[in-house]
Amino acid sequence: MAAMRVLITGGAGFLGSHLCDHFLSEGHQVIAMDNLITGSVRNIEHLAGHEHFRSIRQDVTEYLYIDGPVDTVLHFASPASPIDYLEFPIQTLKVGAMGTHKALGLARAKGARFLLASTSEVYGDPQVHPQPEDYWGHVNPIGPRGVYDEAKRFAEAITMAYQRCHGLETRIARIFNTYGPRMRLDDGRVVPNFVGQALRGEPLTVHGDGSQTRSFCFYSDLIEGIFRLLFSDYMLPLNLGNPVEMSILDFAHTVNRLVGNRAGIVYKPLPVDDPKVRQPDISRARQILGWEPNVDLEDGLQQTVAWFRRILCSS
Ligand code: UDP
Repeated sequence: MAAMRVLITGGAGFLGSHLCDHFLSEGHQVIAMDNLITGSVRNIEHLAGHEHFRSIRQDVTEYLYIDGPVDTVLHFASPASPIDYLEFPIQTLKVGAMGTHKALGLARAKGARFLLASTSEVYGDPQVHPQPEDYWGHVNPIGPRGVYDEAKRFAEAITMAYQRCHGLETRIARIFNTYGPRMRLDDGRVVPNFVGQALRGEPLTVHGDGSQTRSFCFYSDLIEGIFRLLFSDYMLPLNLGNPVEMSILDFAHTVNRLVGNRAGIVYKPLPVDDPKVRQPDISRARQILGWEPNVDLEDGLQQTVAWFRRILCSS
């Protein structure tokens, strides 16, 4: 494959920074764009000075100017955790709506292929289980999560409109819960929360009775799926995630066991509109990309725990 010049918005974020590493390791040039409201320079500091890497601190909702060619735009900029989009509701709406518009405009001007990081949140609190791509979802537009869900739904709509009206080469990944090194310890999502609490010897804060389910995908599996989707011919939204589903209570017990935490569990109120179930139907990704996750939850968690342990020791 010829070397490409790739723009990654949200390039200093959890998944964005892993994508930077992946594309660089495949011999491509990478430009990471991030305004650093939830991303972190620490995620990309090891790339400083790399001859094929450049980072730009910019809000993707502003006019985007990149000199020279761009072959691929990966639009990953967005707050992605429920507490982040509660803290930055307007930025979350803007980056999903105006940011996607700007990133599409740039892709069109450069003749680049465009990949949108969408989300399982487009299915909301789903009434179909597991969720296939042709399910239209069950979203509360005005609830606290609506800012993220509706922004991503708009982002999918405008991406399809650019494909249909302008013939842009577009891809849409609906990303389900993904975890691993470089998540922010304080981002509020269940994996960093539980692992951080377990490492500090504190009880894990289970929301509700913990019977709500999630399905956790290790970041390296997800990055491989994104890569395959980008180079496939598939232009409709595609679920990417790990179909192994478990309750949050079982997940808490697993984390406590792996870390050796004896502090147990405390129960906290369930946040508003917290989805009761979530599990990707990945039949389409299996069939079209020949992809499925292969990192076992305990292996992925061990790597994640080791990484958070280092962060805690150095802070
Ligand atoms: N959760 C929890 N304790 C925490 C953080 C999250 O029980 O300390 C729950 C949360 O209410 C949800 C699930 O874990 O049911 C996954 O939450 P997360 O914030 O990771 O993302 P979501 O999948 O809801 O978008």
